[in-house]
Amino acid sequence: MLQLEIEKRYKSLTVLQEEYKDCTRCELSKTRNNIVFGIGALRNILIVAEAPGEVEDLTGYPFMGQSGQILDYVLARTSNNPELRKLAKTFPIKNQTRNGWKDFIEVRNLLLQEIFYTNSVLCRPPDNRNPTNNEIKACNGRLLETIYQVDPKIIITAGKIALETVMGKKVSSIQKMSGSLLDITLPGKMVEVNYTVMPILHPAFLMRNPDYESKTGIWQTTIAQIQLVRNLVADYDYMTRVV
Ligand code: URA
Repeated sequence: MLQLEIEKRYKSLTVLQEEYKDCTRCELSKTRNNIVFGIGALRNILIVAEAPGEVEDLTGYPFMGQSGQILDYVLARTSNNPELRKLAKTFPIKNQTRNGWKDFIEVRNLLLQEIFYTNSVLCRPPDNRNPTNNEIKACNGRLLETIYQVDPKIIITAGKIALETVMGKKVSSIQKMSGSLLDITLPGKMVEVNYTVMPILHPAFLMRNPDYESKTGIWQTTIAQIQLVRNLVADYDYMTRVV
C-alpha cells in the first residue's frame, strides 16, 4: 500500500479514537478505567475479540493479560517472521501466569507489525461479564469504521461474542464454526464491502483447557487454524504482488 494511503488511514483511526475518548454511549463508561482502543497493522490480519478484561482496562491496551499471551503465542508460532517463531519457543507453556512470559512485550511489539487487535466493545464489562446486546450495538459504528480503515485481508474472530458481533447475528455453536472460512458483507462507507472471517475459540478457553500436548486438542487445532489464515494471506500477497 502507498505510504500516503497508510498515513491517511492511521490519521482516520486517530480521529476515530479522539471521537471515542470520552465515550458515554453505553453503561460501560460508568465503570471503566480506560477505553481500550484497537492497535496494530493495517491491511493484514485483524483480530476482533470480546471485551477488555482487568489488565486491559488498567493499561488501556488490548490483550495484555494471560489470554493475550496465549493469543500471541499462537500468532508467533505461525508468523513468517523467524524472530517471532524463535521467541514463541520461550513461551512457558506448562507454567502460564499473568506475567509469565518474559519475552511477551518483545513478541507483542513485533506482532503489532502484522496484526491489528480490537474488541467488540472498547470498555471492560464489570466482573468480566459478557457485553450486552445494547453495549455491542453502541460500539458497532466504531468497530465498522475500524474494519474499514484497517481494511484487513482476513478477520479472525476470537470467541462466540466476537463472531456474533462481526456476523451481525446469533450463532449456535462456536465450537462447530471455529476453523471455517465465512464470507461477510458489510455496509461500507460508500459501497458494500466483502471480507473473509475465520472464527477461532477465545484464548481464555484455551487457558482453561491446557491440552497443548494432544495433537487433536484445541491448542493444536487453533494453531492449525491460524496457520491456514497465514497461508491465505501469503497467497493473497503472492497474487497481488507487483512484478
Ligand atoms: N479478552 C478479550 O476478549 N479481549 C481482550 O482485549 C482481553 C481479553
